[in-house]
Amino acid sequence: MRFLTGVMLVLVSTVTGAVVEARERPAGPPETLATQRPVSGEEAVESAFPIDFVGVYYDGEVTGGAVRFRHDGRWGTWVDLEEDGVEVDGRWASALAPGADADAYQVRVPRGARSARAVAINTTDGPEATAATTSTVCTDATSIVIRCEWGADESLMTWGPPQYFPAQKLTVHHTGTVNGATDPAATMRAIYRYQAVDRGFGDIGYHYLIDEAGLIYEGRHSGDDGDPAHDAAGNVVTAAHVGGFNSGNVGIALIGTLTSVDPQPGARSSLEQLLKQLSTRHKIDPRGSSVYVNPVNGTMRAVANISGHRDWAATECPGGNLYALLPAIRDAAAGTISPPPPPPPPTTTPTDTTPPVITAVAASTTSNSATVSWTTDEMSTGSVEDRRTKTNPWTSTSDGPLTRGHSFMIGGLTSRTSYQYRVTSKDEPGYSSTSAIFSFKTR
Ligand SMILES: [Zn+2]
Repeated sequence: MRFLTGVMLVLVSTVTGAVVEARERPAGPPETLATQRPVSGEEAVESAFPIDFVGVYYDGEVTGGAVRFRHDGRWGTWVDLEEDGVEVDGRWASALAPGADADAYQVRVPRGARSARAVAINTTDGPEATAATTSTVCTDATSIVIRCEWGADESLMTWGPPQYFPAQKLTVHHTGTVNGATDPAATMRAIYRYQAVDRGFGDIGYHYLIDEAGLIYEGRHSGDDGDPAHDAAGNVVTAAHVGGFNSGNVGIALIGTLTSVDPQPGARSSLEQLLKQLSTRHKIDPRGSSVYVNPVNGTMRAVANISGHRDWAATECPGGNLYALLPAIRDAAAGTISPPPPPPPPTTTPTDTTPPVITAVAASTTSNSATVSWTTDEMSTGSVEDRRTKTNPWTSTSDGPLTRGHSFMIGGLTSRTSYQYRVTSKDEPGYSSTSAIFSFKTR
């Protein structure tokens, strides 16, 4: 039996500056399970583990394909494969298709596809990652979910040495993965495995990724100076998101498929803020256009300073809906969004219409309890959900009182056991935010 105690501790903090957290690396995340193999002729491929994702890739000038999954002995319908947000000339790669714990899959590729391969990936049920492959302390002074926080297995990073160049362009992508994913960190680990190992880039292709709630994730490794995407001199690490135009080009991907739906408001807002911050830092005019010059080989291309992937290459990325929003997103990044209508007469207090922003989520543990803390940028309630694995239902604390510093103790836990958790805060008008999923391990 489990019991939960909602102990309210108001964190003494009046400083809104950077909070440096030094915490033990959260227990888990699980090791990534993956099996890659050639595929042909709609062969049924059994999986030794529940399938979270399947990716398909092949050589040739053709595109597309389809996948279907088997659950409990029954085959589902064929689903067209989306395109990965990172494409390379002469090869085609699907985005990761969601398997929902399937036990087998079948793949169809078009005539003309050569050397087709598929990979089944599970980033949620593997054994706990060993300390040998990850750093033991995860120190983060940023609001960005850095690699050790989302659980990057650094042994999969095989590229190098890194090169750094001044940033010239900011390029927007989508990942082509499923919308509404409930565990963005698990999606991050899957994209990482797929792009680093199966697609052969040695690392995740993008510099930054943004989930639907607006949390920003560190993508490609850029050194250990705590400044994602940059070296100590402020130059940008060369990643792998636009073939032929990667050096000095920052890749930002929204997690999801934005061909026929708009980005979620939190994701769009974070994209605009990140573009604004990067364009200010690198003195890039968000609404300007200029000739990009590849600092390695001199290749040139005239392109908008804030571009979509399709401005560089023949690709659907970043999705029609997101691409159509780029002019407005550039305006927001430039800080020149049309001024809001004049405020109504000041008879009421200003209306709060934005959800709280959750930062500094952390957990400390004893053998049978965990204390979870976080901060919000406005007064809000807080609650914590936890579960043993993703197949267990969430158990939730009740809401605490309105505050900016939140802390809850969860009791009745089993010792030396990993739990997943996430936190939710709701402001007075009722707007709420939920964090990414983190994990801790009891002692
Ligand atoms: Zn792309």
